Amino acid sequence: MNNSVLVIEDEQEVREMLSFNLRRNGFDVWEAASAEEALQRLDGRLPDLLIIDWMLPGMSGVDLARRLRQDEHTVQLPMIMLTARGEQADKLKSFDSGVDDYVTKPFSPKELVARMRALLRRSGTPEDGILQCGGLRLDLNAHKLSVQGKAVKIGPTEYRLLELFMRHPNRAFGRSQLLDRVWGRSIYVEDRTVDVHVLRLRKTLKPHGLDGLVQTVRGVGYRFSPT
Ligand code: CA
Repeated sequence: MNNSVLVIEDEQEVREMLSFNLRRNGFDVWEAASAEEALQRLDGRLPDLLIIDWMLPGMSGVDLARRLRQDEHTVQLPMIMLTARGEQADKLKSFDSGVDDYVTKPFSPKELVARMRALLRRSGTPEDGILQCGGLRLDLNAHKLSVQGKAVKIGPTEYRLLELFMRHPNRAFGRSQLLDRVWGRSIYVEDRTVDVHVLRLRKTLKPHGLDGLVQTVRGVGYRFSPT
């Protein structure tokens, strides 16, 4: 299956040019002409990546990005922001919108696609939407976990935690990093909550003898260690 991308751009010509080029590069392209329309589309199944134009009528691209980072449903979504010439990416970064990368208009489609692929690699997004490691199989489209071909029931928070871990195997995450990336920035959750859900995730994996995959890193937090 192809990686999917939602393009949020109000200028129809630019949007169509982008869609055309991205489809030609093998992406599944969804389109939205405003932040409000994008929010509606993101209510259901999520794309693998977002391209957000900074200048949008109504809610701006920056406000949209910030809002998505505060929502647990979209907190992990990779995002690239398009900025017009003259709007310095440095200046935009000071807004701390939470996007992963910036591309300045006018840009070549080739450059954008290269940045998209780099971002998908960084965020551990597999091309077929299936994450597999340590004997676990996570279907990112169906939001399902299975072990040795058998479906395993998993809570929504444990699922997001496991998804983050499986996207970044062997990487240690601090509790505050996990809070930011699994719960979202706006929600006040105590560090202890992280421990509670890690414990639940281990309980989910225990009947399959795989609870040891989620390791405690002393003085830091947790790490998923499939090898
Ligand atoms: Ca625009």
